[in-house]
Order: sequence, then C-alpha cells, then structure tokens
Amino acid sequence: MSDIRLKELTLDAILDFIEQRDPGQTSFKQAVHEVMESIIPFIRTNEKYENIGLIERIIEPERVIMFRVPWEDHEGNYRVNRGFRVQFNSALGPYKGGLRFHPSVNLSIIKFLAFEQIFKNSLTGLNLGAGKGGSDFDPKGKTDAEVMRFCQSFVSELYRHISSEKDIPAGDIGVGEKEIGYIYGQYKRLTSRFTGVITGKGVEYGGSTVRPQATGFGLLYFVEEMLNHHEHSMDGKSAVISGSGNVAQYACEKAIAKGVKVISMSDSNGFIYDRDGINTKKLDFIKELKKERNNRIKQYADEFGCDYSEGKPWELKCDIALPCATQNELNETDAENLIENGVMCVAEGANMPCTDAAIKLFQKSRILYAPGKASNAGGVAVSGMEMSQNARRLSWTYEEVDNKLLEVMKSIHEKCVKFGENGDDLNYMKGANIAGFIKVADAMLAQGHV
Ligand code: NDP
Repeated sequence: MSDIRLKELTLDAILDFIEQRDPGQTSFKQAVHEVMESIIPFIRTNEKYENIGLIERIIEPERVIMFRVPWEDHEGNYRVNRGFRVQFNSALGPYKGGLRFHPSVNLSIIKFLAFEQIFKNSLTGLNLGAGKGGSDFDPKGKTDAEVMRFCQSFVSELYRHISSEKDIPAGDIGVGEKEIGYIYGQYKRLTSRFTGVITGKGVEYGGSTVRPQATGFGLLYFVEEMLNHHEHSMDGKSAVISGSGNVAQYACEKAIAKGVKVISMSDSNGFIYDRDGINTKKLDFIKELKKERNNRIKQYADEFGCDYSEGKPWELKCDIALPCATQNELNETDAENLIENGVMCVAEGANMPCTDAAIKLFQKSRILYAPGKASNAGGVAVSGMEMSQNARRLSWTYEEVDNKLLEVMKSIHEKCVKFGENGDDLNYMKGANIAGFIKVADAMLAQGHV
C-alpha cells in the first residue's frame, strides 16, 4: 500500500490512485473527479500549485474515525450501527460539516461529502476547515426514545473527537433540530461544557436565527444572482424542487416570496404535481407533515387533491429545477427531459445531486447550472455565524443574519463569475472549484508539508 504514489497530475492518474488506495469508493471518486477536472487545467498554468504533494494531500483526509454505535430498540433488542467522522482538511480552520443519518451511509459517502465541504467552506470566506460524519442508522420508523438513545450512544464515542475549537458538526439528511438537541444534550452531559460544539441548535439554547432557513434561502439568493447576472428575473418563473426536508422546504418558502410558482416537491417515494403552485399555507402543511419522518409527501396530494406519482419530478415542465434531496438524483435522462421542456436554470440544494453526465449536458446546452458547493453554502455560512455568536455569547437578530447570508451568497456568486469565465460562456462549476481551491491551497502551502 505504501508504494502507491500519485505519479502525474492528470485526471486519470488521480482517479487510478484513488481506486488503488480505496477500491470501490465510487461516490468519493466522483466528487474528486468533479473538482479535479477544473483544477488540473488551472494548475497547469499556475506553477505554484503544480505540486503532486499538494494534490496528494488534498485528496487524503487528515483523519478518519469509524466507530461502533450500540443502542437498544423499543423491544429491548440490542442493535449496532456504524458511526463515522471524517476530518478532511483543517487548513482554513476547525473541521466543519454536518452529520447524516441514513441507511445508505458508508465511508465513501462521508468522504465525498467531507471533500466537497473543503471547497464549499472555502468559498464562504469564513475560516472553516472541512469534515463530515454520520451513521447508517435510519431514523425513519423509529420512536423518539429510540432516536434519543441512538444519538446518546453516537455522541458517547464522538464527543472525544469534537470541540468548539476543533471540530463542529451540524445536521444533514436525517439529522434535524430534534437530533441536534439530543446530540448536544449528551455532549454537555459528558463534558460539563456549555459550548458551541454543534450548530443548528434551537435558538433558545444557543442556536442562530436563520440557521434552519439558511441553505434553502441561500440557494434562492444564489439563483437570483445567477438570473440577474444573465438579465433574467425570478418573478413569474416556475420551479420544481425535489425533496421535502429542511433544504427543500426553505427553498420553496423563499421561491414563493420571490414570485416563483413551485409546482412540485418530492420524497424518496414519489412527487406531487400541483398545477396551481404550492402557496404558503400548503407549505405550512408540508412543514408540519415532515416533522414526522415517516409521513409521506403523498399525503399532500390527498389533502389538496393534486396529482401524485412515484419516481422523480424531472419530467415536469419548469423554468428552474432545484434538486434538494440527495446525491445522483438527477441523471442524464432526467437532464434531457428538463432541457427538452425548456429549463433555464438548475441549481443544486443537495450535495452532488446531478450526475457528471447530467452536468455536462446542462453545460453543453448552456443551461445556467450551479454546483452545490456554491449554491448550497448558505447553511454552513450561517453555521459559521452561529459559532461566532456562541464564542462571543451574543445573539444577532434575524435581519442581521439574513443580510449577512445574502452578502455571503452574493460574494460566492462573484467568485464563480471571476474564475468561471469560459470564452463567452460562464462555467459556475469551474469558477466554484478554482475559487475554493486557491484559498485552501494557499493555506496548505503556507503551513508546510503537514
Ligand atoms: P432532510 O433529511 O431534511 O430531507 C431529505 C429529503 O430528501 C427528504 O425529503 C427525503 O425523503 C429526501 N431523500 C433522502 N434520500 C433520498 C433518496 N435516496 N431518494 C430520494 N429522496 C431522498 O435533509 P436536508 O434537507 O437537510 O438535506 C437534503 C440535501 O441537502 C442533502 O444532500 C444534504 O447533504 C444537502 N445539504 C443540506 C444542508 C443543510 O443545512 N441541511 C446544507 C447543505 C447541503 P424521505 O423522507 O423519503 O427520506
């Protein structure tokens, strides 16, 4: 194993190197592919970064923690899940990134998420390193008491690896305000410390205003910047949003506020098609419904009498598509359908929801396409603000945080424009990757070979 070296700075060599060291980590490889495709041509013309050691280090996590999570279910059976925390890169600051509880979680998925997080956190302009964690525990179908016992067991191991100075987790799929509360409670119990060790907390015990809304709102702020930059506006456009969890709900809320007609939301079973558009009252129904993870989006169709189908919503005609559920949920065929139906903008609320082939098709067809590391960075940006408020023991108002979020999203858009120029075209993926890379690479080079 120790003889495996990265021999040259080509995409194929990097992907071969990963396959040899970590066979079968397809999601991680996909994330590295997406980034390196933009970075390699850039470093070819920037000698300072054309450094095999730098690239070898940037694709290797600083630390991988994998642990047993034993817990007891409501029938008294002992159950064991696997817990993960990947502390990928601390060049810019303490490790920062969410926890995901979903049965599909494995090391490859956590590594892909943590790797993406490096560039996303860099783009926010805040001093945040990158990490990600989670477990293959499925909160669906569990009682509250089971979820609490699981979270307590999970933190009983994780607590020794995290702190407000070192590694600050947050939520992700399957980890919302309830789970964050249980995680924080157990951390406090084990350490006797009331610190900002996790973000996404309830506002009454140290959370930030706008954190629940941040990813969804930030996504729409980014979409508005993209459209305005290309002399379009949001008002009167139609949108399809996948997912109906945290990111999707607040993307929908902000879209409605901006005059967009949202005609679809979904879950892992199917999607609704509401020709009249989801209004605030109907969205409140979804928010209430989804407080219980077992509830299905189909119940919206039953309640409001609209269409419901199994599968994914990408055959619907819309101007704006916002994949806000999970990785690889939008493939080449879905992209073909969206393009055929006249989509003008696709912006990722989820992490890596579009496959590589789908992205290529959007770019070839000159659809405005925003990669998640830029367009969904609002969540981590407000998490960074929560950390600042915790450290200074104060609370900013809703307006203050919302304005700061808007400024961060505007500045990320500017960076994408600055580095994404591609002849007479603008490649947001290239812009986000290069802008994110420069800051991290400079910090890594400055800190020596560590
Ligand atoms: P939630 O758990 O709140 O919601 C997830 C939603 O996605 C649910 O509607 C869920 O449906 C659906 N979903 C999950 N897995 C699948 C699947 N395999 N196929 C189809 N639908 C699926 O998670 P979030 O809203 O927090 O996260 C959504 C995405 O946004 C993730 O990719 C996450 O990494 C990303 N993200 C989240 C941030 C945050 O602040 N929360 C920040 C940046 C990115 P069901 O109920 O049926 O499982």
